[in-house]
This record gives sequence, C-alpha cells and structure tokens, in this order.
Amino acid sequence: MAIHLSTHHPPLSELHTADRGRIHSIETCGTVDGPGIRFVIFTQGCLLRCLYCHNPDTRDPFQGREVTVDQVMQEIQKYQSYMQASGGGVTISGGEPLLQPEFVREICRRCHELGIHTALDTSGFPDFERSKPVLDYVDLVLLDIKSYDPQTYHRVTSVSIEPTLHFARYLSDIHKPTWIRFVLVPGLTDDPVNVEGLAQFVATLGDCVEKVEVLPFHKMGEYKWQELGYDYQLKDTPPPSPQLIQQVMETFRRYGLRVE
Ligand code: SF4
Repeated sequence: MAIHLSTHHPPLSELHTADRGRIHSIETCGTVDGPGIRFVIFTQGCLLRCLYCHNPDTRDPFQGREVTVDQVMQEIQKYQSYMQASGGGVTISGGEPLLQPEFVREICRRCHELGIHTALDTSGFPDFERSKPVLDYVDLVLLDIKSYDPQTYHRVTSVSIEPTLHFARYLSDIHKPTWIRFVLVPGLTDDPVNVEGLAQFVATLGDCVEKVEVLPFHKMGEYKWQELGYDYQLKDTPPPSPQLIQQVMETFRRYGLRVE
C-alpha cells in the first residue's frame, strides 16, 4: 500500500515528537470509546484502508492540525471534573494513534500525573517496538480486530493481520485490560468461520480481555468518502440484521467471553 507524499512535506518523523503531534479533531463528551464520559482525541494519519472507515479524512498524516501536548492538556483539564465524576477519562483514537507514539505516550503520561484514566483505540498495526512504551501509561486498550481470516482481514484493511495478532498476544502477556472491537459487515466479515476463528483467538488471550464489542456496520461516513473522491465499495451493503448480530454475539459467548 502506498502513501503518496508530496515533495513539499517534511519527513514523517518530524511531524510528531514528544512535544507535538497532528490531530484530526477532539470530542469533549464521548460516550462510546471507553467507560464513562470521555475526552476523545482523534489523531491524524492511518496506514489501514478499511472499507467501512467512517473517518477516511484521518488517513493522510499531513492533514489535520498540529498541536502541542501542552495545548491538549489545557483542553483536557477543562473537562477533568466531568470525566472523573462519570468514571470516564481520556481516549486517544484516530486515525491510528500509534503512528505518533511519543506524542501519545506523553499525553497519557501527563494524564496519569493528573489521575486521569487513559484509553487507547488502536488497530495494533504500527511498529511494535515503537508502540510498546506507549502502553506504560495506558489503562485500557480498545483493540480493533477487523477479522480473523487473513484474506478477509486483508480485504477489509489492505494490510496483514499478523502485527495485530502479535500486539494482542503482548497485551495478554502484560495483562493489560483490553476491549476487543469487531465490526460486523454482512457479506464481508460475517462468515461463521471468520467469526468463530476470532472468538477462538480472543479466548486464548485470557483475563486481560474484559469484553468484546460487536459493532454493527453503518454508513455514516459514506458522504466523507464521496467528498474525498474515494471509491466507497460498501454502498450496497446493508447493516447487519438483529438476528445476525445476536448470532455473532452468541459465537463469542460460547467461548466464555463477555459480549456487548
Ligand atoms: S483503522 Fe480506523 S481510521 Fe484507519 S482506516 Fe481503519 S477504520 Fe479508518
């Protein structure tokens, strides 16, 4: 997969440091990315090309806006009492936060200094050795495993599944609290063999997995694909039926997993 970089851009490594990084946007009262009310930072840049992505405008690492860690922390502190009263905290999502590991680690470290709970929403795909230190200051990982069958995973994301499985096993080794997220797309990720394989794998991760979230496919991001001139291949794909959702949830439950 190629990322087309214009010659005007600085090298990617200069785009983000422990002091600054690039973000797409901030949501101050998120309720779906971790427990309680969350201050959600959507970072800019992603190497995956998920067919159902509802934030395709986060792909390009040179878009978005540059912010310093100090600026982000000032914003976070304005909402600290809300977050903490609800049992919430800060979630770093994207895009892919682990493409800016030093920046993300520093935000999480500063949150911990303030006693704020931190969650990281990731595909687990970026460079493992650079990603690992971020976890020192992450309380909860929301790990998106977009399929289990390698060919289906590649079809959905355009990248290999191996880095994600490796990352998942590491989370298990270090007993990091983890929620697994799986987007259910009729005709794409719903093959029973694919779902069963994922359930079986997740069960091997043990107690670190607090729950599995089965997320029904929706087309809320379709208009962004059109605006960006990208080809949205799922325009004729319906959302999953309630029966299909139940069936998939049941598969995870059969492996002793808590499912929502
Ligand atoms: S990992 Fe997330 S942000 Fe990246 S393409 Fe997939 S859905 Fe979009």
